[in-house]
Amino acid sequence: MNLTVIQECPQCGGTCELSEASRLLVCPFCGVRLILTNEMPHYLLPCKKEGEQLIWVPYLRLKGALFTCQNSGITHRLVDTTLAGVKLNILPQSLGFRPQALKLRQATAQQSGLFLENQLSTTQALEQASKRQQDAIGQRGILHQEWIGETTSQLYLPLVRDNDTLYDGVTGDPLARMPADDDFFNSHAQHSKNFDAHLLSSLCPNCGWDLDCHEQSVILFCHNCGTAWQLAQNGLQQIEYITRHGKAADTIHLPFWRLEVKIEGAKLASFADFLRLANIPKVIKAEWENRKMAFYCPAFRMNSKIFLRVASQITMAQLDGEPTDSVPNTLYPATLPASEAAESIKLTLASSAVAKRNILPLLPGITIQAQQSTLILLPFFDNGYELCQEEKKITINKQVLDLGKKL
Ligand SMILES: [Zn+2]
Ligand SMILES: [Zn+2]
Repeated sequence: MNLTVIQECPQCGGTCELSEASRLLVCPFCGVRLILTNEMPHYLLPCKKEGEQLIWVPYLRLKGALFTCQNSGITHRLVDTTLAGVKLNILPQSLGFRPQALKLRQATAQQSGLFLENQLSTTQALEQASKRQQDAIGQRGILHQEWIGETTSQLYLPLVRDNDTLYDGVTGDPLARMPADDDFFNSHAQHSKNFDAHLLSSLCPNCGWDLDCHEQSVILFCHNCGTAWQLAQNGLQQIEYITRHGKAADTIHLPFWRLEVKIEGAKLASFADFLRLANIPKVIKAEWENRKMAFYCPAFRMNSKIFLRVASQITMAQLDGEPTDSVPNTLYPATLPASEAAESIKLTLASSAVAKRNILPLLPGITIQAQQSTLILLPFFDNGYELCQEEKKITINKQVLDLGKKL
């Protein structure tokens, strides 16, 4: 589900509507462009009911692709769920489809009402959701599980207490009897209301030019001075990137992460080691023995199955690039941060292997640590239905890319 969020423009106070996944706020009234950097946004469900006391109950929303490796192969599932952040018997454990139909508001410190403390960490929520999946497919034989591209937000459900009755503020339905002197809610009150949106200017910190920013970009490029910037906790942080130049004038560059890793539990120092471990029927060139192994991963969101296929194919291709001081004219937005890409490495290893049954049992014994991640822009051409990598003929259906923007 994709949620709609109402956000107030900090410059003119105008009401802007944006999709939940959007990191770019473009005010239709004053035209200001701002980047939202919240790791964990806090949203309020609309409250229709009035009464003596307003209480906000936290739910953690979790959305992402969960990959599971078993002896039989790799499966994936798109998880989109809400989990209650406070244990309360009278409340639903999940919000179900309710938020989808509603317009949410960004929570602010000025919001009236009693906010309850969220007691569910993101890690616990991911564990709960993984556990559910394990129960569904059977615990036995799970060799590796990984989330890729997960996003979290906190949603607050309004409750209203009026005349000894507690109501669901969204539907107005009574939930329970609750005497006015019951201090259950006060004992669960949240101490700090630190959930204002963090907004950043979308101008290049180096030259002041407008950065090239799409709805979900996590890397922003400056076409004027050729720099690239990554969203960090306290602002924009410059990163290096390399480009492989295209042959055609109308080349589209797609962003990938090139990940150099330290691996324990398997011999995987060089590209030649990788080809042997994955049993890939390729004549191993002498220079590959010295080529340090690097995994590649799309730096954009895509259908899980195709994501892994492309990660494996690009890893197999081991394409290089050069540092440049100009950004390619046509660039597909980078929407997946390096930290998420690093989590894909074991999956890419398993999915590259010809005989998966040989490599899957090794996964629990392998530890992988990303050492260096470099953004590399690779040239593709548009053949009408697909984008096709110029040299290796690796293709990605354009419809798949369009759908990926909604993930
Ligand atoms: Zn405005
Ligand atoms: Zn610049």
